[in-house]
Amino acid sequence: MGREIHMFFFPFFAHGHLIPTVDMAKLFASRGVKTTIVTTPVNASFFSSTIQRSKESGIHIGVEILKFPAAEAGLPEGFESADMFPTSPDENFGVMMKFFQAVLLFQEPFEKLLQECKPDCLVADLFFPWATDAANKLGIPRLVFHGTSYFSSCVTECLRLYEPHKKVQSDSEPFVVPNLPGDIELTRSQLPDSMKQDVENDLTKILRAAKEAELKSYGVLFNSFYELEGTYADYYRNVLGRKAWHVGPVSVCNRATTDKAERGKKSAIDEDECLKWLDSKQPNSVLYICFGSLACFTSAQLKEIAMGLEASGLQFIWVVRKQNKDDDWLPEGFEKRSEGKGLIIRGWAPQILILDHEAVGGFVTHCGWNSTLEGVCAGVPMVTWPTFAEQFYNEKLVTRVLKIGVEVGARKWARLVGDFVKREAIEKAVKELMNGDEADEMRKRSKALAEAAKKSIEKGGSSDSDLHSLIEEISLRSH
Ligand code: UDP
Repeated sequence: MGREIHMFFFPFFAHGHLIPTVDMAKLFASRGVKTTIVTTPVNASFFSSTIQRSKESGIHIGVEILKFPAAEAGLPEGFESADMFPTSPDENFGVMMKFFQAVLLFQEPFEKLLQECKPDCLVADLFFPWATDAANKLGIPRLVFHGTSYFSSCVTECLRLYEPHKKVQSDSEPFVVPNLPGDIELTRSQLPDSMKQDVENDLTKILRAAKEAELKSYGVLFNSFYELEGTYADYYRNVLGRKAWHVGPVSVCNRATTDKAERGKKSAIDEDECLKWLDSKQPNSVLYICFGSLACFTSAQLKEIAMGLEASGLQFIWVVRKQNKDDDWLPEGFEKRSEGKGLIIRGWAPQILILDHEAVGGFVTHCGWNSTLEGVCAGVPMVTWPTFAEQFYNEKLVTRVLKIGVEVGARKWARLVGDFVKREAIEKAVKELMNGDEADEMRKRSKALAEAAKKSIEKGGSSDSDLHSLIEEISLRSH
């Protein structure tokens, strides 16, 4: 290989994008690439200790800070991350629109920075569509990072191209995604609002521009691995004609306990206390329940989860994001009755530390792509409970293609709060996952995928090869 290349990483301001990008930057840096993450002050503070630990282990990652134009977009100072959005869906939408207004204002300062530093390659998030033109002007190849699976990218594209959802009579009538392998069935109620409605706002504008920018970009970078969704990686590249590389699962680069425990935020539970609790349990006996960094259920839904869990009799770790001091969602005496049996984490959980523990035997997930992949890497089968974004597509990959999950039965896309799921459905799904007729088979398949995930990033594995060839290609181009 020639001289050291310099790559810029520009993640969107949300934990589901920031966390894998930081891992990805570490991965490229560990292969001798000079890496710089471009972000804002508050977002930088989320991963400063990760960067420090990385530096101590000999892997240097640079950080360039751009001011977040909060005031210009009518947002309070310091409001720089999607996880600061209000949790009620109506209020949330208004703030989200202002946030995307701010995102559009990054174009000028970012172009200036790009001009000054002239990196050899730019990996920029899908939400920064203007980054492609900015990079093209300077002859810098821009890679798009969507932060999702090949599978869901293929579904999105097939829905956009063939519009099967416009040909059904109702929101609940199933249709098959046309031309996509696997006969994947969905309903209109499971699709994002931006797909169903002909509305125009800053978000839909960005999404449309993102589609156009993707076609003009150098390629797309995936946090995934071939053995997991090879059919769809091939479809994306050969049928949809995109140039793409997969370098995942990137979370596996976190091997030390602190690296696993502190990704994006400090945990709300002491990591040793958490591990001690898990150490006292039998292998595969604990269910882990977490819905990512954005979803926020109503009190009524949280209560329903508590009742369903209690009725199942299973041991659990349950992460509750809702900031509700009164705990009005907790059934009376719930925590007392579940002492020793269940643990509630209020706030941020050390997710991969928990998932990777042998006591954990099942994962109730919202099917965010990072969580899904982290579940796969840990070899745990999943109860799928998609709420919004592209999570309903990832659910189909888990349950219909990989056959390592049980659907809880969420049917309706609803931003933040998800569809309402009753306690009986929750109880049934978690019991089926942990002890049902199919449980052993699902667990075997999950373990096999976890093995394949490890191999894919080892020397000569599918992700390692893609990583290597991408670095080589960029390196050759920049001479
Ligand atoms: N995460 C975590 N602790 C939490 C909640 C989330 O570490 O309490 C991490 C999780 O491991 C994953 C990311 O945050 O890496 C969430 O990304 P995902 O794509 O699953 O969902 P999103 O938050 O974007 O909906």
